[in-house]
Amino acid sequence: MTKLLGVIGDPISHSMSPLIHNGWLRDMGYDAVYEAMHVPNGTFDEALETLARRDVMGINVTLPHKQSALKAALEVSDAASKIGAANTLTYLGQRSWRADNTDAPGFLSALGQVNPDTEHVLVLGAGGSARAVVLALVQAGCRVTILNRTVAKAEELAGTLGSDNTAYGSIDQYKEYCSQATIVVNTTSIGYDGKTIELPEGGDRLFFDISYGKISARQLAHAQEMGWRTKDGLSMLVAQAAFSFEIWFGEKPDFDAALRRCTNALKAIS
Ligand code: NDP
Repeated sequence: MTKLLGVIGDPISHSMSPLIHNGWLRDMGYDAVYEAMHVPNGTFDEALETLARRDVMGINVTLPHKQSALKAALEVSDAASKIGAANTLTYLGQRSWRADNTDAPGFLSALGQVNPDTEHVLVLGAGGSARAVVLALVQAGCRVTILNRTVAKAEELAGTLGSDNTAYGSIDQYKEYCSQATIVVNTTSIGYDGKTIELPEGGDRLFFDISYGKISARQLAHAQEMGWRTKDGLSMLVAQAAFSFEIWFGEKPDFDAALRRCTNALKAIS
């Protein structure tokens, strides 16, 4: 019987997860399909009930259901519990699920080697994705500063997931902190408003925008003009998908093949 996997969220039509996972399922010969499922706010538990009646293996969860996914799970990983949200559910049978969060390892894997003794990472934003980013950086031993438009959220994030080496403040202070940081990570959704964060000279430092495609294009072009090395969020997206796939199948999929497919798909629509 063909197994069912998928991603549930609202909106969901833009999701690249079916492209990523179906490519891996085909390449690796698994008898399974991965579908995008539109599940409006307030109907998450019903959707899980329906899925439990089908031959479901697991699902990815995106906005606005990441917190509901955590609440619905019988078993919860340490990372999902700390972050307070889950992006991966694995069906355990008997209408029970296990919750994981692969955004944190996905981000770290996309970031690559970091030296905790020298790295000072400036994280812009304190929303859902910033929680995974900060957890990953703090667990890697980095010095982290979190700046956000709503300072109380940066304070809460630094207090719950930070270490003695974590500071917070207002995003209005970003120019001052940009000059001290070795890496800047933009987790804000400012690109959706068509705005960019004006950067000082980069001097070959890394500017990592976790958004991708049209949302991050202008910001990354500006960062490059200012002499920053840049990275967009596509590698994080593929890496978090690869960690979910490994949870479900116990086997690592081909990261580069999926990154190529996503890059080509984004080029085709730009
Ligand atoms: P949230 O809505 O949880 O957080 C949005 C953040 O952006 C908040 O910190 C918010 O500040 C800030 N923000 C929004 N508008 C502005 C503005 N005009 N000026 C300054 N700050 C602003 O979103 P997520 O954290 O879930 O997602 C953020 C981005 O990351 C999205 O573009 C998303 O696509 C991307 N993402 C990428 C992933 C990947 O795998 N590559 C995974 C997850 C997300 P405030 O708190 O003050 O409202």
